[in-house]
Amino acid sequence: MGYLFGPVLSRRLGLSMGVDLLKYKTCNLDCVYCELGRTACLTSCRDRFVPRQKVIREIELRRAEPFDHLTFAGSGEPTLSLDLGEIVSRAKELVNSPVAVITNSTLLSSPSVRKEVSAADVVLPSLDAVSEKAFQSINRPASGLLAADMIEGLKEFRKEYSGEIWLEVMLVKGINDEEAEEIARAAESTEPDRIQLNTVVRTPAEPVEPLSEEEMRRMLEIFPGAELIPDWDWCVPDRIRDRLMELLMARPGTLEEISCHLKIDGSDAIKYCKIMENDGLISRRLHGGKLYFHAIDES
Ligand code: SF4
Repeated sequence: MGYLFGPVLSRRLGLSMGVDLLKYKTCNLDCVYCELGRTACLTSCRDRFVPRQKVIREIELRRAEPFDHLTFAGSGEPTLSLDLGEIVSRAKELVNSPVAVITNSTLLSSPSVRKEVSAADVVLPSLDAVSEKAFQSINRPASGLLAADMIEGLKEFRKEYSGEIWLEVMLVKGINDEEAEEIARAAESTEPDRIQLNTVVRTPAEPVEPLSEEEMRRMLEIFPGAELIPDWDWCVPDRIRDRLMELLMARPGTLEEISCHLKIDGSDAIKYCKIMENDGLISRRLHGGKLYFHAIDES
């Protein structure tokens, strides 16, 4: 056991149960902003890293737990796993929630990888660079990978895949922000359903700097229709905070109950619970297969 992790609260995917098909940390990129640290195994060779049947068995055992997405992500680049397609297809039969794949997009230039990833309901690819210079600077790819191939792969994938594509662009000060306009044009050309802008918010592999909140908001002019995903803009309105504390003081509540009681959508319920959890005001626990939030009473 140990191929699934979480569920974790993710702003992009709600309550996300992770599936990790890799050995730590196996990737074909070595991104300067990677929160997992430097890439230990830099490779573009697809391989089998974990026992497929054991992963499927673990999904079977945990499928009744509450989560909004079963998400293939974790210790590196999921498309490096030759088992990805089969496990995603099997997971779709086993779980009721949508299945998501987070990928750095580099292997979408391969028709067989595109076919495997297409089994998912939601695909979250990344695009951080258009010029090879910026690609080298921010993503530090394994030899042979080109930004141009990655962009073509994303375009081909869009033609073949009818599910949701949520494209993430990670912006790092002084590294790729200067070619934001080119990235925006390339991102649009790949026709994703959503473009989500991010910057460095967690401890990066290298001492790189995030864009400020103001700079990120200006990026929305360059990427019209995009969304911001870093959590520095997260705050809980006083009115919501008071009502949520009142509700959870009375009794623990699920995300569904919180969203219904406060008349807010599910993603806001997740966001507010996560902030209040970080602030030490509430906590969560699993009970009877359901996730409940409860107030921390310090009196
Ligand atoms: S692609 Fe993802 S896992 Fe790989 S180095 Fe970049 S951020 Fe880390």
